[in-house]
Amino acid sequence: MRVLICGGGVIGATIAYFLARRGIAVTVIESTGVACAASGKAGGFLARDWCDGSALAPLARRSFALHARLTEEVPGDWGYRRLDTYGGFTDFRRRAAGRNGPCNLAWLSDGVVVSQALGTPETTAQVHPASFTAAMMHAAIAHGAELRRGRVTGIVRRESPARVAGIAIGGETVEGDAVIVAMGPWSLLAAAWLPLPAVFGLKGHSLVFDTGAQVPGEAVFLETREANGTVLAPELFPRSDGTTYVCAISSESPLPLDPARVAADPGAFERLEKLCANLSPVLAAARIVARQACYRPVTSDGLPLIGRVPGVAGAYIASGHSVWGILNAPATGEAMAELIADGKTRHVDLSPFDPARLPRLDPARLHAAAGG
Ligand SMILES: Cc1cc2nc3c(=O)[nH]c(=O)nc-3n(C[C@H](O)[C@H](O)[C@H](O)COP(=O)(O)OP(=O)(O)OC[C@H]3O[C@@H](n4cnc5c(N)ncnc54)[C@H](O)[C@@H]3O)c2cc1C
Repeated sequence: MRVLICGGGVIGATIAYFLARRGIAVTVIESTGVACAASGKAGGFLARDWCDGSALAPLARRSFALHARLTEEVPGDWGYRRLDTYGGFTDFRRRAAGRNGPCNLAWLSDGVVVSQALGTPETTAQVHPASFTAAMMHAAIAHGAELRRGRVTGIVRRESPARVAGIAIGGETVEGDAVIVAMGPWSLLAAAWLPLPAVFGLKGHSLVFDTGAQVPGEAVFLETREANGTVLAPELFPRSDGTTYVCAISSESPLPLDPARVAADPGAFERLEKLCANLSPVLAAARIVARQACYRPVTSDGLPLIGRVPGVAGAYIASGHSVWGILNAPATGEAMAELIADGKTRHVDLSPFDPARLPRLDPARLHAAAGG
């Protein structure tokens, strides 16, 4: 049996690892570069229980445990660490008071009020998402998986009964017995090839600062307001490699069909730099080592699509993980490997994520769904 995985983001790479570990032949087809999109530009924040109360809870809890286990099983360093997490808001009238709230985080401006603890090392952690994705891909390759560069342009099918026979890369066919669509927001394109619901892309911007040892390993979630009244929710993640990642400023700008052509919205980096300079004198003085934009994949009901594509044997999808794709990649990879190898999952019930729960996107509406 050969499984073809379309997309080398965190979801594709992690599924490849769990399949290859079981001795199944896997080929990952990636158009642009492993972790070139959201999987390389995300925050990499992980939480054990922040999805509690939603259908995601079992996937998130299993994933949080697997993230810890993977650091023991897989060679490499992707900056995994447990951390404290705080929440707060800005009130720049407090500057004169000279403190930033009940939990005083000295690296933040006096106008930042850190008002609550949101997580402890028991419940929150982080990874460097690009390094994590690369490590999963290397580990898959070490277990025999192949990585191919190529843009998937279609699914090759046999009819009556309908089942997949491979994928098309332009005029070339790559044969396989199972195909998994894991193209993040570009999974939308697969709705032209298979009966699938829409996956949309929501854009986010981020900066990475070289902060050295000046910032302790504590994650911070804030709410603030720009001078024109726009409310923003910046997330600040100091990393073990001496950088600090900050993301904010989302938009619904249309997804470019080529992942290599993702670019920032005009003015977004300038707004984010100004915001960061207000939040922390350390950030104001630090060199910026990356300015990034990327799209997270979302579905119409907010839950990912993980499982069999209805009506076409051998076709699967794992996409639409929204803000928790880095967290939920390990349990998704494990569950997809179980589904394909054993016919059913053992650790997480995938029925809330069944692609058949949502209406199929009419391929004639694909262009409009992609944002024109
Ligand atoms: C600003 C921001 C911060 C985030 N922070 C966090 C966080 O702290 N914690 C967390 O858990 N999640 C976070 N996320 C969410 C997370 O980044 C995503 O859910 C996750 O990266 C999605 O992974 P993916 O593999 O599905 O998609 P992607 O990373 O988009 O990967 C899809 C891959 O498919 C490839 N591809 C596309 N079309 C084709 C084709 N035709 N043929 C072959 N390959 C193709 C692309 O090149 C790409 O490499 C964040 C997202 C954003 C935007």
